[in-house]
Amino acid sequence: NRKFFVGGNFKMNGTLTEVETIVSRINEANFDGSTELVVAPPALYLLKIQEELKPPAQVSAQNSYTEKSGAFTGEISPNQLKDANVHWVILGHSERRSLFGDTDKLVADKTKAAIEAGLSVIACIGESLEERESGKTQSVVERQLEAIAKEISESEWKNIVIAYEPVWAIGTGKVATKEQAQETHEQIRQWLAKRISQSVADNTRIIYGGSVNGKNCTDLSNAPDIDGFLVGGASLKPEFIDIVNSQK
Ligand code: 13P
Repeated sequence: NRKFFVGGNFKMNGTLTEVETIVSRINEANFDGSTELVVAPPALYLLKIQEELKPPAQVSAQNSYTEKSGAFTGEISPNQLKDANVHWVILGHSERRSLFGDTDKLVADKTKAAIEAGLSVIACIGESLEERESGKTQSVVERQLEAIAKEISESEWKNIVIAYEPVWAIGTGKVATKEQAQETHEQIRQWLAKRISQSVADNTRIIYGGSVNGKNCTDLSNAPDIDGFLVGGASLKPEFIDIVNSQK
């Protein structure tokens, strides 16, 4: 009952022409809608790509702020995204956390604001290599999730997709093994059951991100608690089509 979900996070890549080429390749693939597909181009291109992207695929922003409007130079509000018919936003990406000061609390506040504005959120969590090697993976992802859980109600979890993206796997070519990803996804689901409710645990998509490509996606997608992917580098390439089609 959890619809397979694949997100393409283009990050800060591409000229307009390049992004349009990627999107026309996605359009030509004629997906049947059995996988929920969301692509996140740079904010500058959101409106143009939204016009060009073939439904039911949807666009997503890569970030949004906590406030509705005001003197926050350089930021985009979730209300502005909603007004522009952008229904998704990626929040808490490890690059935002490590490079731009997005703390657990800021990510949680952004998530709350996005949900209050009527957006759905791809909420990213994940441990560093040092944290994994010192056995802290579970406590780190639970800490990141707890910050969000404090800000949102049980019924609002239906608007959240959790993206487990171990930092050591992002952009490194070192994909988590199916066993590593499944273990953490299962622990996240157990945490949801204990902390929120069984139905939130049963219904929330937990997707994996970090060096997913056209070759490793099928094996990963067979794990019972992997409900899709958040794809960086490979979302810019033709193999993204295979990833969207990799559902079990
Ligand atoms: P890569 O797929 O390039 O490792 O990036 C993953 C990611 O950060 C998606 O948000």
